[in-house]
Amino acid sequence: MNWEPIRKSREDQVVPPHLLDYAEACATFSWESIRRELSGLPGGKGLNIAYEAVDRHADGARRDHLAIRWLGREGLVRDFTYGDLKALSNRFANVLRWLGVGAGDRVFALAGRIPELYIAALGTLKNRSVFAPLFSAFGPEPVAQRLMRGDAGILVTTKRLYTQKVAHLRERLPQLRYVLLTDAPDDADDGLLSLPRLMEAASEVFIIPPTDPEDMALLHFTSGTTGMPKGAIHVHNAVLMHYATAKYVLDLHPDDIFWCTADPGWVTGTSYGIIAPLTHGVTNIVDEADFDADRWYRILESQKVTVWYTAPTAIRRLMRLEIEPRKQYDLSSLRLVHSVGEPLNPEGVVWGQEALGLPIHDNWWQTETGGIMIANYAAMDIRPGSMGRPLPGIEAAIVRRIDGTGAQVVTAPNVEGDLALKPGWPSMFRGYLHDEERYRSCFVDGWYITGDLAMRDEDGYFWFVGRADDIIKTAGHMVGPFEVESAMMEHPAVAEVGVIGKPDPIIGELVKAFVTLKPGFEPGEKLRMELLGFGRTRLGSAVAPKEIEFEEHLPHTRSGKIMRRLLKARELGLPEGDLSTLEETR
Ligand code: AMP
Repeated sequence: MNWEPIRKSREDQVVPPHLLDYAEACATFSWESIRRELSGLPGGKGLNIAYEAVDRHADGARRDHLAIRWLGREGLVRDFTYGDLKALSNRFANVLRWLGVGAGDRVFALAGRIPELYIAALGTLKNRSVFAPLFSAFGPEPVAQRLMRGDAGILVTTKRLYTQKVAHLRERLPQLRYVLLTDAPDDADDGLLSLPRLMEAASEVFIIPPTDPEDMALLHFTSGTTGMPKGAIHVHNAVLMHYATAKYVLDLHPDDIFWCTADPGWVTGTSYGIIAPLTHGVTNIVDEADFDADRWYRILESQKVTVWYTAPTAIRRLMRLEIEPRKQYDLSSLRLVHSVGEPLNPEGVVWGQEALGLPIHDNWWQTETGGIMIANYAAMDIRPGSMGRPLPGIEAAIVRRIDGTGAQVVTAPNVEGDLALKPGWPSMFRGYLHDEERYRSCFVDGWYITGDLAMRDEDGYFWFVGRADDIIKTAGHMVGPFEVESAMMEHPAVAEVGVIGKPDPIIGELVKAFVTLKPGFEPGEKLRMELLGFGRTRLGSAVAPKEIEFEEHLPHTRSGKIMRRLLKARELGLPEGDLSTLEETR
């Protein structure tokens, strides 16, 4: 079905958008002018994300403006002004300094959306240490992999998460010097410390040391098809992108109340759930609880959210319910809705128009890009199903790889190819930690190859086609099949595992594992349930397989790799494609 474009005009916009004319914005854009809108550290001492997000507002007219409103799961509300955030993040930076944690040292967080996480992130950046968030629904295995790979020296977490996921791993983590517990009144031992006690003792005064824009600031883990998770390195200069995209895409204005529903365990929850809104001095809503349609609509209503950034899985969940949001809730404050993380079906865009009175603006980016790259803008017509057009300052193209060595830009419209970006934007990842070769392999003939397949139409709108690899997107979260297979292989009954993403109408894809058993084990319901439980305990609910199917043989390439592509084609009843590399059945 061909979807009618959603026409935009300046007149429909309650607040005049920052980006009024796309072509003109592209023609006049410069990173220098974005840099001039930021402050830089006093005395010309560089650029620090936390200074731009907090201190420059706290030291000026926005000191008493509400920076973060935290909505606790049980109804508790905590408000933090920019002044409060400055004092608290200074305290955290002093805690790190007191513990001997310095520039470049990695500070991990494993926590739900609690205020301490936000304070730790900002304090870590002030201390020029590197903030590395972990999703709290990860099981012990993904947590251990990331702490090890990221050389974690400090971990901020809660008593419960520590006991469940980390305590028994301490021996595998000799570099982990201190664990700071957000909810322990006293220290348990020399390495397991009470964060409230340390914060209480720390000073509220902290002078951010000179920070080079190229200093490492954030480490975000992302999944690969073949190996274990990779740590994408981001630098302080990324704040230019956070600021620019919050201006041109999210279209934040000083009085906005912004809510990003993503968890800071993933890049969206950090770039847009913490940094970007604060760089604009707006009010940022943080909800501790998980998705609940009534709760969400009530938040939009009671907090008078003006700009909302959410994800397709959530939108599809809302679409399914028999709720007429505009009849049941007062959503009159809302003026813009954005979505990211997975393909947004055209039905979702149009549902927004009907149910919320506002279309949903899809945008595209990924962990490696550090910020939004392709977007639908408040003042630009929407073509439902399209990710939109590249941000001013960003050059995107469809390229065709030649013999696995070169890349050629496809100029003809509506031709499928690799989505590629011209390197050089401020939030581009600067490497995969300890994996220079993998980093280099992402760049071909002067293009960064994103790993996504897409098309570009005659007017420069980009359309997502799929992943070029086997990575799974489940409920918007990226899952690497290799990581799941490795964990499942540790079960004594399992001989081999192949993991795929099986399309699902709500969560996009669900993780499905095909398993062959060792001699002496019989497939059956009992073993299937045991394996599902084993996966959940090891990997956590966000990553574990939701479906398991027993197979006698898995298809392999001649070089012995499991052909996930074939497993998927068979699962979906699709043509099996080129089978020339398929090994004879063993
Ligand atoms: P992550 O690095 O976890 O943020 O995942 C990035 C990947 O999510 C991209 O490479 C895409 O495969 C997918 N993705 C993100 N945004 C979109 C979107 N708007 N439409 C389709 N896929 C998306």
